[in-house]
Amino acid sequence: MLTVMQIPVLNDNYIYLLRDYDSGLTAAVDPAVAKPVLDTLAEQGWHLDFILNTHHHSDHVGANHELKNKTGCRIIGAKADNHRIPGIDIEFSDGDRFRLGETLFQIIETPGHTSGHIVYYSAEDGVLFCGDTLFAMGCGRLFEGTAEQMWHSLQKLRALPSATRVYCAHEYTMNNGRFALTIEPDNAALQQRMREVRRLRDENQPTVPFTIKEEVATNPFFRADVDALKTSIAMETRPPLAVFAELRARKDVF
Ligand code: ZN
Ligand code: FE
Repeated sequence: MLTVMQIPVLNDNYIYLLRDYDSGLTAAVDPAVAKPVLDTLAEQGWHLDFILNTHHHSDHVGANHELKNKTGCRIIGAKADNHRIPGIDIEFSDGDRFRLGETLFQIIETPGHTSGHIVYYSAEDGVLFCGDTLFAMGCGRLFEGTAEQMWHSLQKLRALPSATRVYCAHEYTMNNGRFALTIEPDNAALQQRMREVRRLRDENQPTVPFTIKEEVATNPFFRADVDALKTSIAMETRPPLAVFAELRARKDVF
């Protein structure tokens, strides 16, 4: 069994501290900064064993060296990005597995935001740590990959069990939802979700985690092959990839 602690840092980043109950092994996902992680570890009486990086951006690997120096933790990241994940010790590719004590993670490659982006999925615990690939009602910008790569990556995540709880690396939900409403203003599930998102943000509560099921119903980037969305933007005759690329281009200037 896995305990997940959510640590909000910087403007809108989330760092996750994972604790495997049986073994006591602990991991930090995408530590942008060190102090909040060290403080939380001290409060809980935990020792940091691993860092799990999803990609090389500084707001995800910023504390790698400091945390490794202070705790002796080992750093896990994508083999494809081993030249730019600071302090990397363990390199994983698509389909590899990693055990945090009794908790088994599967590594899924999701290029698009960066070419070497990976995500960590535990089927038993029903949790996904997806960095900057999938956001609530959104997806990462295409800094290195193509629209085709990102569309393929998102389809891999869409295929996970619908109850999977998704822990992304940013609180971008409100802005993503506003954009989604410009694409599908008549989507009742989207309208309902945005009411809930506004309530949570008014109370300064996180909107993360969320579920794959919610994304299937409301995330335009998951819905580029759904007739209702295509019709809503008058692209019903276009292939899903063209629709996805159009959505991404519109969001870039939203
Ligand atoms: Zn990023
Ligand atoms: Fe980021």
